[in-house]
Amino acid sequence: MRSTLRLANLVKEFESQKRTVRAVNDVSLDFPAGAFVTLLGPSGCGKTTILRMIAGLETPTSGEIYLDDKPITHVPPNKRETAMVFQNYALFPHLTVFENVAYGLRLRKVPEAELKRAVHEKLEMMGLSNMADRQPNQLSGGQQQRVALARALVMSPKILLFDEPLSNLDAKLRIQVRQDIRELQRNLGVTTVYVTHDQEEAMAISDYVVIMNGGQVEQAGSPEEIYFQPRNSFVADFIGGVNLIPGRMTGPDEAELLGRKVQVRNPYGIAAGQEVKVAVRPEEVTLGDGPFTGTVRRAVFLGRVTEYVIQVGDQRLVAVMHGQHRRMPEGAETTFNFNAGAPLALAR
Ligand code: ATP
Repeated sequence: MRSTLRLANLVKEFESQKRTVRAVNDVSLDFPAGAFVTLLGPSGCGKTTILRMIAGLETPTSGEIYLDDKPITHVPPNKRETAMVFQNYALFPHLTVFENVAYGLRLRKVPEAELKRAVHEKLEMMGLSNMADRQPNQLSGGQQQRVALARALVMSPKILLFDEPLSNLDAKLRIQVRQDIRELQRNLGVTTVYVTHDQEEAMAISDYVVIMNGGQVEQAGSPEEIYFQPRNSFVADFIGGVNLIPGRMTGPDEAELLGRKVQVRNPYGIAAGQEVKVAVRPEEVTLGDGPFTGTVRRAVFLGRVTEYVIQVGDQRLVAVMHGQHRRMPEGAETTFNFNAGAPLALAR
């Protein structure tokens, strides 16, 4: 059976140098059964503290945590049916791979035959069968990571927790391992909470992304929702980078910006006359045609795309052009336009 997880008004305060730090500030979230949910946000926004409260490694100051609708807020960690994969893997250096994976089952006093079968099954699943007798320091970073994952999975957890599990791997391996984790999670159907500060990783791996800032949830939704309909400029900027152009609403779906009237999406119903920030992704700015003019300040060839910085009055815009278009030199004048349906009006 797939499990659901729910956080209700979670608050966590720490006492630090006689000052109270509110690391998590009234967070309520629903994690649907079998979903892969990522907590994403800048350093210090409270992601890890939420994960540790779900695992039972921190006690909330107030609020409740529900697993399959039963409160588990005060259940000790070893009785919670959650398992965590840590950033540094936290393997026991003096134990073999087999014994590292077997550790939790031994604490549970699982009979030897059953324990052996379960450990070997997980080692095989993770492609580690021929490394059972090695010690962690005889393994690569990627292999250690798989041992940590096998150790979590062997406990048959209802909730799988990951705290930045890929940060110690090189860029190429990171992409491989994140795909492996996603595939494994889909096959097992285990509800998963994953912490990262890497927005691309979050987009690639998740069913739902929760954007956090200063201990609070800014927005939660599918990667597409978060990308195409961010609720505010923090979310828009954190996920993917965006131009935020100051303007003023002149009608229900029209705003004045850069000295012209532009059709905008206005899903949040901002009234005419209000100041707004109009969000436009760099790939939605098309150069070489359109009613606006600007000066090329910078042109950087990145292979698949060329990235431009365009100066318009005192505003700088980033535009990305695909493919083999003819590169414009720095200092050139260019016309440009925003793709229809792209500009999004945000109140803050
Ligand atoms: P990072 O990506 O850097 O790990 P994070 O989003 O996971 O950041 P947390 O580790 O949850 O953030 O920390 C949130 C806030 O709580 C920070 O301001 C941090 O300094 C503070 N904090 C965390 N743990 C403690 C503690 N044990 N004592 C005091 N303050 C703490």
